[in-house]
Amino acid sequence: MIIVLKRDRNEVLEDVRGRLMAGGFQFNVLEGVKYTVIPVLGDLTTSDISRFRSIDGVDKVVRISSPYYMVTKEYRDKSVVDLGDGVTIGDQFQFIAGPCSVEGEESFDRIAAFLSGLGVKILRGGTYKMRSSPYSFQGLGDEGLRIMKKVAKRYGMKTVSEIVDLRSLDFFLEHVDMIQVGARNMYNFTLLRELGKSGKPLLIKRAPSARLEDFLLSVEYVLLEGNEKVVLCERGSISFDDASRNAVNMAAIPLLKDISHLPVLLDPSHGVGVARYIPAVSEAAVLLGADGLMIEVHFDPSNALSDGFQSLNFAQFSSTFERIRKIQSCLGNSCC
Ligand code: PEP
Ligand code: MN
Repeated sequence: MIIVLKRDRNEVLEDVRGRLMAGGFQFNVLEGVKYTVIPVLGDLTTSDISRFRSIDGVDKVVRISSPYYMVTKEYRDKSVVDLGDGVTIGDQFQFIAGPCSVEGEESFDRIAAFLSGLGVKILRGGTYKMRSSPYSFQGLGDEGLRIMKKVAKRYGMKTVSEIVDLRSLDFFLEHVDMIQVGARNMYNFTLLRELGKSGKPLLIKRAPSARLEDFLLSVEYVLLEGNEKVVLCERGSISFDDASRNAVNMAAIPLLKDISHLPVLLDPSHGVGVARYIPAVSEAAVLLGADGLMIEVHFDPSNALSDGFQSLNFAQFSSTFERIRKIQSCLGNSCC
C-alpha cells in the first residue's frame, strides 16, 4: 500500500506514522515538494486500507497487492475440477448443455439422449429458477432434481443445476454432480461460504453488474472455506445496449485465465440471448482459451417453458459442436 498526504499536513503525518508503528508495519516516509509519500509493507487487510483512507488529510491510499489470493496463479498454477468417472473440467474442453429448465422426464430424456449421442458428458437444467417475474415458470423444484439424476444415470452423464438457497443444499448434494451459483446469487456470501464447506464441485457465474474483481472476491469466499473445486463462468453484463440480452465481455476469458488457476467457461446463451448468434460467439470463446461452454439446448425452443429464444435446437447445437471439435483438433487440443 502507498499512502499519499499533502506535504504541509504534519499533524496528519504524525497520526499516520503513529498508527503504522502501532500496527507493526514497515514503512518509509518520502518527502516530495508537494506530497509526502509513504510506501508500507506488511500484511494489510481491506479494512486496514479503508481505515487509512478515511483519515482526514490523507490524499489517497493505493493498494498494490490484489485483494484476493487463493483464486490467483500466485496460489496455484492450474486447477482441474473432477466430476468423477473421468469427467474433468480444465484439462479438456467440455460442453455443458441442456434445457434452461427441466420440464419433465420425457422431454429431459429426449434432450439427454441427443446430447449423449453426440458425446456431451455434462447435462444442465434448472429446477429452482431465479426468474425476473414471479408469474414465469419457477421450475419443478426437487422433482426436477430427481428427474435429472435418474435421466443422467441412464446415459452415464454428469449434472449441474442451480441452487437458490441453503434450505435445499442437502438435496442438491445428493442429486447433482456440480452445483451452480447463478448470476443473481454471486453476492450471496452466506450461500457461498456453505458451498465452500460442502466440498462439492461448483460452477459460479459472474453477476450481471459485477466487475471481475467482485467476481473473484466472491469465489475467494468459497476457496477460503476449503473448497477449490470451482469453475468460473462468464455470462455477460448489464449494458445500455439491448441488441443482445447482455454484453458479453469476451476479453474476460483471457483475463480470468491470466489471473486465476480455475477453469473458465462461457455461457453464451444467457450472455447473448439470441440463438442465431450463439454459434459464432461460442467458436470465438474457444479461440480465446475458454475451458468449455454452457449452452441451452431444446428440441423445440419455441415451446420451451423458459429461455426458448436463446436455446439452440438440435441441428444448431450439432453443427456448433462439430465445428468446435474441428477447431480444437486444428489447435491440437483435446476436446469433449
Ligand atoms: C441459468 O443458467 O439457468 C441461469 C439462470 O443463468 P444466470 O444465472 O447466468 O442468469
Ligand atoms: Mn436460462
